[in-house]
Amino acid sequence: MIEKDLDTFHQLAHSLLKAEEEQPVVKPLSTDKVMEQLQLHLHDEGLPDHELQELLQNLILHSPRTATRGFFNQLFGGRHGKAILGELLSALLNNSMYTYKAGGPMIGVEKEILRQTSILVGYGDQSNGTIAPGGSMTNFMALLMARDAYLQATDHPGVPDNMILYTSKESHYSVPKNAAFAGIGRQNVRFIATDDRGRMQAAALETQVQEDQKAGFQPFFINATAGTTVMGAFDPLKDLAAIAERENLWLHVDGAYCGSVIFSEQHRHLVEGAHRAHSYSLNAHKMLSVPLSCSIIVTRDPKQLYQSFANDADYLYQTDEDDWNPGKTSLQCGRRNDALKFWTLWKALGTKGLSEMVAHQFFLAEVARDYIRKHSDYNLYSYDESISVCFNYKDIPPQELCTKLYEEGELMVGYGQSHGQVFIRLVTVNASNSKADILNFFQQLESFVARHWKTSPAPS
Ligand SMILES: *Cc1c(COP(=O)(O)O)cnc(C)c1O
Repeated sequence: MIEKDLDTFHQLAHSLLKAEEEQPVVKPLSTDKVMEQLQLHLHDEGLPDHELQELLQNLILHSPRTATRGFFNQLFGGRHGKAILGELLSALLNNSMYTYKAGGPMIGVEKEILRQTSILVGYGDQSNGTIAPGGSMTNFMALLMARDAYLQATDHPGVPDNMILYTSKESHYSVPKNAAFAGIGRQNVRFIATDDRGRMQAAALETQVQEDQKAGFQPFFINATAGTTVMGAFDPLKDLAAIAERENLWLHVDGAYCGSVIFSEQHRHLVEGAHRAHSYSLNAHKMLSVPLSCSIIVTRDPKQLYQSFANDADYLYQTDEDDWNPGKTSLQCGRRNDALKFWTLWKALGTKGLSEMVAHQFFLAEVARDYIRKHSDYNLYSYDESISVCFNYKDIPPQELCTKLYEEGELMVGYGQSHGQVFIRLVTVNASNSKADILNFFQQLESFVARHWKTSPAPS
């Protein structure tokens, strides 16, 4: 029976890939029609196979195409065949990653990814880590470890209401959300100013920490960002590490977006000082073309993971040593195998191949910035050494332009804002794109504007 379903999968995959080739972006269905039009409602009676297949076909052909040369909307995109291969096998095997008994060699697959990632961060091979469902969750784990490390050291019975954490104004929204989850409180998050390139200002951080100490607060955590969500900026890790060491604060690097620069010889310098941080996270589902989700966190001191996440459970941990039972270092109980897809890709390409993938994204961003600089109808708002290219075209309001491009099924690209300026954000994270694809983006944008904005709009 499953053989037949897998044949169906092949047919559906084939039709999707063919459709993507012909039409990289689909016109969205309106939300008031989608339930009826795609027959999404569930019923008492089941469907025969041929009807189900038709329905699935319709559903997938109307879903956003995130791996094509028309998708620049999010911080992920691209789809490496080898990673998909690993992912499909994970689904088929359905191992759970809490014990060696249930995960078998898949635990080794994950251990190897974590070991190699630790080495690349600069922690050596004696540190540890885990994989969690997304960068928000790996950030959460970092915060919990920092909280527990701090409380252990100061011997508090619970979370006092004056523990303070620091993050930049341009950092990810998971930081204040996680502060609430962790019992620290959103009001105890200090948002530190950034410079014009979107990087946290170390001097402003230092001043704020000292003020807080004077006022009787308890600073304990700095969240640094490697690749801010809008500008793709890298906080100055060396400066932040110096402050963290001086003030005895936990330093976490949120590298969900661009922490994968550790794979590239050429770009690793962007996170220089990372080895001095206490924890480091990256999303392989962003820069490394692995399907959602594959978020890795490594900690310099492996004990911290156990301190925050280990729990004894006789019904679960019945064989093997802790080292091979990663349920003891995990946020979850049952945990899907997010390791195999990344491992399959890494095996196939080697570290060198991953390095080229990352370097290519920076190359594509350079192509885009170059094009923008050479065409006077454009304004550029972002900087070198970032794979987020922020710009406006002919003073057209970016919100309007991005929305119309989406509604017409032309291009998927979003807008962002920094220091009060709103702009289009082109993300060159899809390494299967070529220079021609990036140039094509601009051509498509220009001809779309020529068709839809009849008169040249007044400058804003
Ligand atoms: C994407 C992103 C996150 C969140 O990661 P998810 O996997 O979407 O939860 C966190 N921080 C930064 C800087 C990001 O870009």
